[in-house]
Amino acid sequence: MMNKKFITQAKIGKNWVDNLGSFELISPVDGKVIGLVSDCTPKEARWAIEESQKAFEQWKDTPAEHRYEILSLWAELIIKEKTTLAEIMAFEMGKPVKEGKKEVDYAASFVRWYAEEAKRIYGMTIPPSIASKRIIVIYEPVGPVLCITPWNFPSAMVTRKAASAIAAGCTVVVKPSEHSPLSALFLVDLWDKAGGPPGVLQVLPTSNPGELCRTFFEDSRIRKVSFTGSVPVGKALYEQSAKTLKGVLLELGGNAPMIVFADADLDLAVRETIQAKFRNAGQACIAVNRLYVEKGIVELFCNKLVEETKRLKVGNPLDENTDIGPLVSEKSLEKIRRLLSDALSKGGKILYGGEAKGLYFNPTIIRINDPASEILKEEIFGPLLPVLSFESEREVVRLANSTSYGLASYIMTSDLKRAFRLSHALQFGIVGINDGRPSCCQAPFGGIKESGIGREGGQWGIREFLETKYLSFNLE
Ligand code: NAD
Repeated sequence: MMNKKFITQAKIGKNWVDNLGSFELISPVDGKVIGLVSDCTPKEARWAIEESQKAFEQWKDTPAEHRYEILSLWAELIIKEKTTLAEIMAFEMGKPVKEGKKEVDYAASFVRWYAEEAKRIYGMTIPPSIASKRIIVIYEPVGPVLCITPWNFPSAMVTRKAASAIAAGCTVVVKPSEHSPLSALFLVDLWDKAGGPPGVLQVLPTSNPGELCRTFFEDSRIRKVSFTGSVPVGKALYEQSAKTLKGVLLELGGNAPMIVFADADLDLAVRETIQAKFRNAGQACIAVNRLYVEKGIVELFCNKLVEETKRLKVGNPLDENTDIGPLVSEKSLEKIRRLLSDALSKGGKILYGGEAKGLYFNPTIIRINDPASEILKEEIFGPLLPVLSFESEREVVRLANSTSYGLASYIMTSDLKRAFRLSHALQFGIVGINDGRPSCCQAPFGGIKESGIGREGGQWGIREFLETKYLSFNLE
């Protein structure tokens, strides 16, 4: 049924390229091969860079209104194909279609937002100190860019990067994750159908990302790399960027604390915790990684949380009722098992869940007693939630900040003063206050410390792809 909808060839210039090697794409749904995908090598990378540079010469000078029109149509087509895209994501990385449809809305929201932003790249004039001078500041697109995307949001991470870069007047090569190339290929097909010129958006899947991307990093025509993925890969790419001094945007992992105070609306706190933890089976960079509950309510809160968690339905992601699908790979499963067994060996107690059937891991809540448990230090990336208790605000801020990550954090409280105090004290790029779903197209998304450099979304996302140029007129 699905095979007809899959596009598996790389998109380079105006060509769908399949006269090269391929790699097998295995579905986490049932472990079966769902397609053979073009396996791009440095040769295709060099070709794509040529095309990207050629297209940039035209695209950078297109009127903003024209970019707006193409991007708007692209967004419309993405929404029209919501079900197909959600099914593709379910097949390639196991996201339940119910959630996949929400991701498609989210993905399209960036395209719409940046269609509008294309028209608002305002420059500036500044009053000079010398009467005969005029100071003008203009913004120009940085040039061809490489966007490297992860598998956990296979559509939204493509559009969040590509739409902002394209709106700025840049050309884009997307290197999707080897686990989820099909969404990106489907999206570039929709770009074509929206009238997007060839070479402005290209997609190069590969089974060897290190080798392919090195070609881009070594080429001085690529002026920016936007990467979303893990911290170790992000750090390695940061080093590689030095050679040709490219700009880099790094959206990396997180270790988000959720802090629940006794004065919080506990039903709301339970709902938001479940959203922030179990969405996408916990495979989100802003997923709650550590839940801190004030001592006096910890038992009550855990009971409520377990009752609500029991409602989540684990199963085939193609089933409309499924809340939690399979983990993306055996490697992810092994990590969850390792973290769980370490926590149990250090006195952790399972309050709910703990079992897996193949890649299908039940949502699991575990009470932690030993702060040395590995689960508190690593990004879990699965439906496993460690719960701890705390006694004072000062103590919990210290615990929450005791990580090298700094992406998202959450506070549940009804005390306004406390909410302001903590928002300031927490060392994270995003603070959700009674809100477990802070992601949206209008706001700056990104982390501090080792969670990354730069921001995506809103007015900040497009600036990443613009150079500032200063024109000094002497009218003497
Ligand atoms: P990953 O780092 O393994 O891979 C990310 C991308 O980098 C993939 O496309 C992969 O093929 C590519 N890659 C891997 N090695 C490379 C290399 N040597 N050179 C160039 N590219 C290379 O991460 P993942 O498992 O795909 O995604 C999960 C990670 O992404 C988590 O850490 C998660 O927190 C993070 N993430 C962050 C955000 C954010 O906005 N901050 C959003 C989603 C995911």
